Amino acid sequence: MKKVTLMAIAILFSGASVFAANSSTMTSDTTKTKKVKPAKVQYTCSMHPEVLSDKPGKCPKCGMELVKKEPAKKKS
Ligand SMILES: [Zn+2]
Repeated sequence: MKKVTLMAIAILFSGASVFAANSSTMTSDTTKTKKVKPAKVQYTCSMHPEVLSDKPGKCPKCGMELVKKEPAKKKS
């Protein structure tokens, strides 16, 4: 009978550890989401790269619709 109790405890423990792993994954996911700052989106004119705006609008130089500028893709 003692063995059965031991097994039950083992099953319970493994189940608990799986649950703990799951919740820790969820927690880290939440932290990750919180940690990752949304990249600052800037809008620029495709004809005038010097025109930068933090919100969509129109180019003051040519009136063209401003397009999103990806910070990662930097043209040098
Ligand atoms: Zn322009």
